[in-house]
Amino acid sequence: MLSVKHVNKTYSDGTHALRDINLELPNGMVGLLGPNGAGKSTLMRTLACIQSPDSGEMTFAGINVLDNPMAIRKQLGYLPQDFGVYPYMSCRSLLKHMAVLKGVNDKSVQRQHIDSLLELTNLSHVADKHVSTFSGGMRQRFGIAQALLGDPKLVIMDEPTAGLDPAERDRLHNLLVSISQDKLILLSTHIVEDVENLCQHVTLINSGQVVESNPIDKLIAPL
Ligand code: ADP
Ligand code: ADP
Repeated sequence: MLSVKHVNKTYSDGTHALRDINLELPNGMVGLLGPNGAGKSTLMRTLACIQSPDSGEMTFAGINVLDNPMAIRKQLGYLPQDFGVYPYMSCRSLLKHMAVLKGVNDKSVQRQHIDSLLELTNLSHVADKHVSTFSGGMRQRFGIAQALLGDPKLVIMDEPTAGLDPAERDRLHNLLVSISQDKLILLSTHIVEDVENLCQHVTLINSGQVVESNPIDKLIAPL
C-alpha cells in the first residue's frame, strides 16, 4: 500500500505540476492516466525519490519515504520515461553493475537473479550484446529488467510501452501482469485501453490534481 498525502510541487518557472495530491494505492497493477502535462512524470519522479516535493508525505509499506530514502530505494524499481543506457557495455554487464547498486552483491545470487530477469524479459539470447544495438522494444524490455533488479515491491514505470508496436506491447503487458502478484506496479499511460486491460486500480490526474482514484469497477468518470 502506497499512501500519498498533500504532495505539492511547483517548478522554478512557476508551473504548479502537483497540487495537493492525496492517494491510497493498493498492491497490484495501478494505472496513472492523464493527458500530456497532467503531472504524471512529476508524480512518478517524486514517488521514485529522484525529485523532492515542496511539501507532503509519502508512505510505502509503513515506511516514511522522504525520511528513509535509502530504505525505500531497496524496495523500489523505476523506469523513467527517457531511459538512457550506457552504450559501451553489454546488457548483462550493465545489469551486473546495476545489481550491485541495488545491494545484490553475492556473485552466484546475482548471476541467478540476472539470468531469470533476462529470461523474463526475453533478452537471454542478446545478453552479451551492447544495449546500443537493441531495438526500441528490446531497450524497453531492458529498462523493465533493470527496474526489477533486487525484486522491488514498488515498481514505478513511466509509459513503459511508449513507442512499441502492438505485439510488443502485448508481450510487455503479459510480463507485467505475471509479476504483479506481490507488488505495487504503478504505470503511467495516456492509453485508456491499457488501463482497462491491465489495471485493478485507476488514478486519473489532470492539471496536477487527482480527478479520481478508484478500483477499476468503481470508476465514476468514463474512461
Ligand atoms: P510527457 O508529457 O510525454 O510526459 P513532457 O513533455 O511533459 O513529457 O516532459 C518531457 C521531459 O521534459 C521531462 O523530463 C520533463 O521534466 C521535461 N520538461 C517538460 N516540461 C518542461 C518545462 N516546461 N521546462 C523544463 N523541462 C520540462
Ligand atoms: P505528464 O508526465 O503528465 O506529461 P509532467 O509531470 O511531465 O506531466 O509535467 C507537468 C507540468 O510540469 C507540465 O506543465 C510540464 O510542462 C511541467 N514540467 C515538467 N517538468 C518540468 C521541469 N523540469 N521544469 C519546469 N516545468 C516542468
